[in-house]
Amino acid sequence: MPRPAIHQSCTKIVATVGPACDTPEQLAELIKAGVDVFRINTAHGKIADHEKKLKAIRAASEQVGSPAGVLLDLAGPKIRLGELKSEPLQLDIGAELTFIREGEPANDFEVTATYPKLIDELQPGNTVMLADGMVALVVESVSTDRATCRVTASGEVRSRQGINLPGVKLSVSSMQRNDIANAMWAAENGIDFISLSFVRSDEDVYSLKNVLKAHDCDAFVIAKIEKPEALEHLEEIVDAADGIMVARGDLGVEIDVAETPMAQKRIIQVCKEKVKPVIVATQMLESMHHNSTPTRAEASDVANAILDGADACMLSGETAVGDHPIKAVEVMSRIMRVTERNLIHEINHSVSHCVHPITTAVTNAAISIAEAIDASMIIIATRSGGTAWVKSKSRSSIPTLGVSDCPATLRRIQLFWGIRPVGIEKMASPAEIRAKISQWGKENGQLKKGDRIVFVTGSGVVEKAHNAVVVHSVE
Ligand code: PGA
Ligand code: MN
Repeated sequence: MPRPAIHQSCTKIVATVGPACDTPEQLAELIKAGVDVFRINTAHGKIADHEKKLKAIRAASEQVGSPAGVLLDLAGPKIRLGELKSEPLQLDIGAELTFIREGEPANDFEVTATYPKLIDELQPGNTVMLADGMVALVVESVSTDRATCRVTASGEVRSRQGINLPGVKLSVSSMQRNDIANAMWAAENGIDFISLSFVRSDEDVYSLKNVLKAHDCDAFVIAKIEKPEALEHLEEIVDAADGIMVARGDLGVEIDVAETPMAQKRIIQVCKEKVKPVIVATQMLESMHHNSTPTRAEASDVANAILDGADACMLSGETAVGDHPIKAVEVMSRIMRVTERNLIHEINHSVSHCVHPITTAVTNAAISIAEAIDASMIIIATRSGGTAWVKSKSRSSIPTLGVSDCPATLRRIQLFWGIRPVGIEKMASPAEIRAKISQWGKENGQLKKGDRIVFVTGSGVVEKAHNAVVVHSVE
């Protein structure tokens, strides 16, 4: 039985894999430092590159004895600049930049985009943002093959950088050919979570789910909230998805950056009501790309996300290309552990439409019992992970193990707040699992004679029963 490190934070850490951390050895160090889920970002590289990263993650998990979850991030309808004629291109205030439909730019200030219909959908007065919102343009005139813009905020741009069009509703489809190929690869390779960028409606989520269903894949679909349309349809999107990402990088360009803190709180609140895991992403420890310690504001940002109710926090460039990937994870985990000591314990009584209502009721009752008798541990024996899912949306300081004989369930549990996955070879009888866990807890110094543990079996573990709660004293 692998050892879950109980000293780890309850809030989960998602870390993006990139050149700064892509060997099995480096990834193993990151798991030991506190990473629960690794993100493979398909905006960079091809399937062969994703394959290499996945192999390295699996090897690292094996090495540490803890199965890291894997999140494949689909780029979705992100529009990018084509190849620039010369780069970097300095754009000064007042300069003219023209989008052409296709073909070779005639000079440095003519550019193409990966979405040729862009010219048809832009209108004079629209704002176009480049370089993550550093550079702003306003559209002055549009003809059949050109859209001429004036620079209103200066900066440098490079080939293939993202283009954001705040307030412009595009007809581009939610998944590109590449996204479908990547989703199919994910289905074939047992990927646990698939996130879709630039979701605009619940339809976008259902299209991805349909592709996955056709390939017999039940990976969790995570909708990335980074467009104003997504905020308009937030409730339906949260209902449709299995989890949500507050994708603040693009969201902060697509809407006024001043609105992002309250948008984050609203998204997290809706996820609590609808019992869905939520990841807060981007710039959490931004300065640690180069520095070995975070700024005070970054430390507060991680803490505040937890106080808002985030289930997980994500690191992007900090681990993928930064100078201090391990330090970034260590400090994030430390901030989480200190902050979690100050969380107000509460049971989330919202009823999920994804699990049986009896599961919610029994799970919540088990937390109450555990709190009332000052239990040392809650043990959830689960096949599909549903019981662990419900438990994770409540906030309780009692260490919780999610015990399963299914490797995919164990990896899925990695995203669930406050639950450590523990693998067993075969789902034995509840009495056998209880005896095993007691013995394991004593051997690892997690439990001692007389400690009380509250044991919850998910539906399907006990024949014909929904769920069961048993209070057990360690002998
Ligand atoms: P990205 O998504 O890193 O794939 O752009 C996250 C974000 O926009 O915050
Ligand atoms: Mn994004």
